[in-house]
Formats: sequence, C-alpha cells, structure tokens
Amino acid sequence: MLIVCADQARVESDLAAGLLSCPSCWGVLARWGYGRDRVLRCLTGDRVLRPRRARCRGCAGTHVLLSEQGLLRRRDEVVVIGAAITAKVAGQGSRRIARDLGVPADTVRGWLRRFAARAELVRAHFTRCAVALDPELGPVGSAGSGVADALEAVAVAARAWVLRFGPAEVWRVASRLSGGLLCNTSSLFPVMG
Ligand SMILES: [Zn+2]
Repeated sequence: MLIVCADQARVESDLAAGLLSCPSCWGVLARWGYGRDRVLRCLTGDRVLRPRRARCRGCAGTHVLLSEQGLLRRRDEVVVIGAAITAKVAGQGSRRIARDLGVPADTVRGWLRRFAARAELVRAHFTRCAVALDPELGPVGSAGSGVADALEAVAVAARAWVLRFGPAEVWRVASRLSGGLLCNTSSLFPVMG
C-alpha cells in the first residue's frame, strides 16, 4: 500500500515515467490493474475512487495506490478527520465537532481517541519527516499537551513539504507522510525515502 497524489492523471504519468518507488524495496513500480472501488465520504458528498494497483519491477510485490484524500481503513476524507483533530485541540467538544462536520459523534470520538493514543508516535514521526524535508529546521517547540504537540508536528512537517514541493493541503500531506496510518492502530510508520 502506498499513498499517492489525488490527481490520477499525475499518478498515471508518474507510473509511466517510473517515478514511483516500491515501499518495500524502493524498486520501480509499474501499472498492474486496479484495486477495488472505494467510497470516500467527502465534505462535498460521497466520491467513488478506483485505486490503481502497481507491481514492483524489483521484488514483484503488488501495491494498491491509495489517494492522499483518504486514510487507510477510514471512510472519511482526511481533511475532515484533520478538522476534527484541530477543533479538539482548540478546545471544542466532540458533539459540537460532529455537528459542525456532519459526522456521527461516535465516529468523531473514534478518530480523536485513536489520534490521542498515538500522539507521541505521531509527534516523533512527523518531527523526523520535517527534519528530513528541511535540514535547516530549528527545534519544534512544545504546544502544551500530547495531542497539541502531535498536531504542531504535523503542521511543521506540512510546511516543510510545501517549501520543498510546492503548495499542498496540510492533511493530505499528513496522509502521505503517515502512509495512510495517521489514525490507525498500527505502530509502524513508513521510513522517509
Ligand atoms: Zn519492491
């Protein structure tokens, strides 16, 4: 599994040009059909995504290329999940956040619980990513709580990404840098290439 740009035409041309690397061995990925359709709940309504599947020319492993719009095993768009995390750090309660985003309160509580449980992991990972993207980066300050520090690290890494690669939405960058695992149970994050 690999998180890629939301622009499918770009993904196709990157695959054709051999620009996408295998997450297991860094070999070149080539087109290999499609994965199963996936419905993503977005702010603008449901969207059906058909993820590309790719095969590594090095290790022959196959990988589903998921759009950076989502996270692994989450039905909602990552910007919605990110908005919930940001609102929580700003002091809002989960019921209010759920109402504002039009998402069930239990779903919002699930995201927040998961993010809080892995806040230190997220902070450490995104701080490493930020430094890898911008070696001149100064120390990342503490924002006062585990979840706030994790959110700050995500923001700093996203800024470093934008400086390096150009404009991008912060939570889509977060999806990419976490390998889609921002709100997952896995303790593994991808190593920066
Ligand atoms: Zn490979």
